[in-house]
Parts: sequence; C-alpha cells; structure tokens
Amino acid sequence: MLVIFSGCSGVGKNTIINKLISENDSYGIMPTYTTRDRRPGEEDGVPYYFLTDEQFEEKIAEGEFYEYERVHNHYYGTSRKLLADSVASGKTLMKDIDVNGAINLSNILKDDVKIVPLFLYVESADILVERLTGRGEKDIELRLKRYEHEMSKIRMYSYIINNSSLENTKILADELIKFEKRNGKLLSAVSKENISEEKINETVALYEKGEYPEPIKVSVCDGKFVITEGVERYIASLRCGKTIAKDLVLASEITVTYEIDDSSSEGKMKKKLYKSNKDKMIDGVCAGIGEYFDIDPTLVRLGCVALAIFGGSGVLAYIIAAIVIPRRPENE
Ligand code: 5GP
Repeated sequence: MLVIFSGCSGVGKNTIINKLISENDSYGIMPTYTTRDRRPGEEDGVPYYFLTDEQFEEKIAEGEFYEYERVHNHYYGTSRKLLADSVASGKTLMKDIDVNGAINLSNILKDDVKIVPLFLYVESADILVERLTGRGEKDIELRLKRYEHEMSKIRMYSYIINNSSLENTKILADELIKFEKRNGKLLSAVSKENISEEKINETVALYEKGEYPEPIKVSVCDGKFVITEGVERYIASLRCGKTIAKDLVLASEITVTYEIDDSSSEGKMKKKLYKSNKDKMIDGVCAGIGEYFDIDPTLVRLGCVALAIFGGSGVLAYIIAAIVIPRRPENE
C-alpha cells in the first residue's frame, strides 16, 4: 500500500511521514528523485536522491519515471525501480507528491498497488508562511504561488485532514492506514429515514457535469469512521463510482446509526449499466435483422423469444404472426 501525502509546501507532510515511520517498523518511505539542493541534514533516499538536471533528463529519456513534475523550478519524479524495490520490502509506503503527480500516479498504479491519496491542509496561507519562515525556507513566495493550484485539487482526494495539530494528524493517518488495510466500511451518524433522495440526486447531477462535490465530514473514534455530515454526497459518490473527499476529524465519542452498504449500491449501478448495454445490443441486432428481411424489429424479438421458449411450435406461431402482422410501409 502506498499512502500519498499531498498539500501545500509547509503544511507538514514530511513531519507527519517521518513521525509515523519512526514509530512503526511496518511503515517505510518511498524514495524519489529530485534536482533541488539538498537541505542540511537530508540523507540520500530519505526521501530524495539528488540529481543534476542532466542526470534527471537522462532518466526521463530512459523511461525511468512513472511520473515527474517540475515543482518550484526543480524536477521531482517517481522512479519505477525505486518504487519496485520499496514495494518488495512489504512495508506500507509513504511519500509526499504534488497534486499533479499524485493524480497521475493514482491512475497509473491503481491496478498494481493500493493507493491511498491523502491531502493535508491548513486554514489559511498565513500559517504556511509562518511554518516556511520557521524552517528557514528561501523560496517562500515561489512556494506560495502554488497554494491556489494545490488547494483547487483538494476535492479529488479520497481523504483530507486539517493539519492543525501534529499529534491528531498522526493518529488520524495511522487509523486511516488500518482502516484501509482492513477495507473498512464507513458508518453513518444520520439515520436511514433522514437521508434525502433529492440531495443525493443533486450531487449525482454535479458529478455528471464533471464537478466534485464539497468534502464530507467523517469522525474517527475507536477505529470507527462515521459520516457526520454529507451522507447523501457519499451515497451519490458510490452511485457514480467517483471520489468524494472525506475530511477526517478525531472524536472522543460518536453515535453510529448504521453501516452504509457501499458494495450493494455500487453493484446496483453496475447491474443497471450492464442491463442497459445488453438491451441496446439486442435492440441493435433485432433492428439489423428486421432491416434485412423487412420485418418489424419487435417481431424479430418476439420470434427469438418464441423459438427459445417453445422450439418448433414457437417458430410456426412466429411465421403465422409474420404473415398476419402487416409489413412496414415502403417509405417509413
Ligand atoms: P520539497 O522540495 O519541499 O521536498 O517538495 C516540493 C514539492 O515536490 C512537494 O509538493 C512534493 O509533494 C513534491 N514532490 C516530491 N516528490 C515528488 C515526486 O516524486 N513527484 C511529484 N510529482 N512531486 C513530488
């Protein structure tokens, strides 16, 4: 499993990753390559291997990268070899990757590695300036320029956390990893009777327009993940097979009403889709045969049904029906 941490520069992605890894042997870092300067105290592979622009471009030409981006005027890229070696370690991998890279990588690897996209945010850009100044960052303005861009993608993430408290974020990320490993189901704090079909349809319409709805609120308490706000938006996301951002918060107590049976509503949608495709195909075949023999397509369909159910006598009935029922007018 690879947990991708995204979020604006200074939000605290690497602080959380390092804390999680230092406290749990089954967690590991996935190293990547960059061309930016090494910061004091940074070791090779934790998380970066440092290359020159020429070396990086050579690797691009060799097809070494799953994805790479130019962020803050430097190259950053996910190497096929480094990822394969990290996956072989059997650890739960973590890495911070910018929003473009995270979306690309999730699409590329979705069938091979379980990806958990997590976005960390803070209430305002001022908090970021404070944190970046605190760590002696030189390119603060450059890094802030990406703030709007990064924030504009937040709704495309499966999980988001307001990183106002390092300790809470660490606990939430840890709980999330366990939840994803056991394929946990979301619970609802809203009872079934209070769920509005109208609100579900509003969100479905939003997805159909290619938009992403507002994140839902999920309280995490004793290993349970409970939706406290936006259950309709969650159900709509299942019906459409789309991502909804779940804003995780730690709670000390929570009322659970019921387990949302996501597999069944997703299954229903798939079945419906399959049925309509199958119907369209049969309609097409009947129309083709009808066109060729100049018979009404409905009659072709009826003939097939009669043949399937009654065999020979069905065909006889069909022939009689074909003679009795008038043919289509010439110029229809
Ligand atoms: P920093 O220089 O502060 O460590 O990272 C700068 C930015 O590069 C961060 O937004 C980080 O998420 C992104 N980044 C780090 N590694 C990768 C990578 O392998 N691919 C992509 N696309 N972005 C990365």
